[in-house]
Amino acid sequence: MARYTGPVCKLCRREGEKLFLKGERCAGAKCALEKRETPPGQHGANRRFKRSEYGEQLREKQKIKRSYGMLERQFHKFYETAQHEKGITGEQLLTLLESRLDNIVFRIGFAPGRKAARMLVTHRHIEVNNRVVDIPSYILKPGDVVKVRVKSRKLGMVHDAMKRVREDRQLPYLALDKAKMEGVFLNYPNREEIPIRAREQMIVELYSK
Ligand code: SF4
Repeated sequence: MARYTGPVCKLCRREGEKLFLKGERCAGAKCALEKRETPPGQHGANRRFKRSEYGEQLREKQKIKRSYGMLERQFHKFYETAQHEKGITGEQLLTLLESRLDNIVFRIGFAPGRKAARMLVTHRHIEVNNRVVDIPSYILKPGDVVKVRVKSRKLGMVHDAMKRVREDRQLPYLALDKAKMEGVFLNYPNREEIPIRAREQMIVELYSK
């Protein structure tokens, strides 16, 4: 599956907010957005204009899509799936995105960011219910047990990431056994439980045009 390989901090500057795409660096003073808040490009600092309704919707969609490290085609497929679910489409979309394996590997704390989590999955370091799953977009089901493979537990990145994790600070739809390096996806999260600042309804409005 294709993925974005360009400079990621530019994406945050384009959206004007932190998308947390670089793991640990995002929390520190080295974050590019802390140094320069203006949009990227030669005239980024001089641009002053009011966005159109379409522009607002587009930026909101780009922000969520980029936060989850997806490209347009796959993101749109997730949207189509969400449309067929019961409930509010925008919220269903976020629930689906949040239930992706790479996202859960990141949320549990096996990796410092979604990009690193995706690499752990594609490099076959992650098991779901005792079977290796190497598809980052794999959608978990309630009760699925996600763990780092025994032979991968000594990976420096996993170790460092796990050191910072607290079992009592897990999201309500996750449970972690730090000693066993395994987490459980308890249930599909509802909107209030998903820690992402987004106006997901705007994506629905954009794709409905
Ligand atoms: Fe975005 Fe992280 Fe880069 Fe900061 S360090 S601009 S949050 S990707």
